[in-house]
Amino acid sequence: MDTDADADPDAGAEATPEPTMDVDTEELVASLTPREENRAIKSYQNTVAVACPACEEPFDDLVVCKGNPTSLNLSKQLDLCVGVEGGRAFIFPHRP
Ligand SMILES: [Zn+2]
Repeated sequence: MDTDADADPDAGAEATPEPTMDVDTEELVASLTPREENRAIKSYQNTVAVACPACEEPFDDLVVCKGNPTSLNLSKQLDLCVGVEGGRAFIFPHRP
């Protein structure tokens, strides 16, 4: 068999990975304290100083976006780290 993988049009399509963060988000969420949930978002408080998967500094809250697109209506200017997993956006606000 002299098959060239690059010549197969299906090979490229199947190789496209789902975007995932390099962390176990279920485990991450399980260590946080749930705060509020509505149709668009679910938020958690980081009471145990879990490290942010993006910058490794402890974040203050986690906001998981359930709607797409979603408006966050932030009342303050915050530094944000963002990750995507399973089609959901995870937002990690850092307060100065
Ligand atoms: Zn961060």
